[in-house]
Amino acid sequence: MDYKAAFRTAVEQVRSEGRYRVFADLKRHRGAFPRATWTRDDGSSKDIIVWCSNDYLGQGQNPVVLDAMHAAIDANGSGSGGTRNISGTTHHHVELERELADLHGKDAALLFTSGYVANEATLSILYKVLPGLIVFSDELNHASMIAGIRNGGGARHIFRHNDLEHLESLLIDAPADAPKLIAFESVYSMDGDIADLAGTVALAKKYNAITYLDEVHAVGLYGQRGAGVAERDGVMNDIDIIEGTLGKAFGVMGGYIAGDIEMVDAIRSFASGFIFTTSLPPALTAGAAASVRWLKQHPEVRDIHQERAETLKQMFRDAGLPVMPSVSHIVPVMVGDPVHCKMVSDMLLEDHGIYVQPINYPTVPRGTERLRFTPTPFHTDEMMRDLVRAMEKLWAHCNIARLGGVAA
Ligand SMILES: *Cc1c(COP(=O)(O)O)cnc(C)c1O
Repeated sequence: MDYKAAFRTAVEQVRSEGRYRVFADLKRHRGAFPRATWTRDDGSSKDIIVWCSNDYLGQGQNPVVLDAMHAAIDANGSGSGGTRNISGTTHHHVELERELADLHGKDAALLFTSGYVANEATLSILYKVLPGLIVFSDELNHASMIAGIRNGGGARHIFRHNDLEHLESLLIDAPADAPKLIAFESVYSMDGDIADLAGTVALAKKYNAITYLDEVHAVGLYGQRGAGVAERDGVMNDIDIIEGTLGKAFGVMGGYIAGDIEMVDAIRSFASGFIFTTSLPPALTAGAAASVRWLKQHPEVRDIHQERAETLKQMFRDAGLPVMPSVSHIVPVMVGDPVHCKMVSDMLLEDHGIYVQPINYPTVPRGTERLRFTPTPFHTDEMMRDLVRAMEKLWAHCNIARLGGVAA
């Protein structure tokens, strides 16, 4: 076996489809978000505006968060030193879990090292905790939920995206006495659409199922205290398991679930991805707790955030650019071809100092490649005008290329 050749061949396949991933090497500057400096492969650099960060509110630069992290390092040192069970639980972990349980109006919360791990670890172990479990999963659920459901190895049914009629038809067909779980997201982050939470909860009650809601792209951003769409829609008490991240709107890192004490205690006791890994460093948990606490008290930041997203969508629409019909803070613009998508992204960065990563398969279905903009409260009208001007120019350029048959 020529191992090197096998690795190269695998990557060549990706490259030939135009979806080889190139990471942008960025230097960020404290307090200057969303500005950063991009370093090219040859070592030269360029100042750019970041338009695709999931630090949706710039909390990663909030002095309240940074001060809490500095103080925790000074007080505790760096790493946690162990798994949660073996010396890796600091007071900061305990406080953060309380803060998160309070945020979601639940008995308890449980921390994981990331949102990915929270989904994978929880969903996979639920099959063991609830023998005979049948999971009903939205077809556009995140890779981490799919991984958890697959690794759990039990029965699963995929329902068409946000299609409650299809979901109900699958629930009707399942044995009435089998334990059932509906797994879905609130904000779907690539299209920017939002699930019908009340409708899903009603179906769960009708068929005696429990609900598992990924609010990763909503925590910090929706609801009076930033608990997510379930808070905004008044159904927080009806969601059995809420899963979130500390790495996006909260600006730090980590993941969690929140729910009844019995459920959380079971996951704590059985989930491999919780038990057998070093816990988050105290500085991260202290920073996350400060961020959650601060955002509970600052709903006005959420209003500004929504206004910024609406403004950018309107500016794209006015310019005739194909902005997708998002009802959230996500502003996706359809390109529909991976090569084209990468080319537009490269030109925005090199020629205009605008950084937006191309979104390609398998993150989105083939043929729906897009640019995904995430304006924050720190993106000004002037930055938006520069962006729209650059996009108009490139769209004209690319249309000419397409008419000439180059990119078709
Ligand atoms: C990013 C993401 C996750 C994973 O969260 P991390 O904290 O980044 O690991 C889970 N679910 C969805 C929908 C996501 O987009």
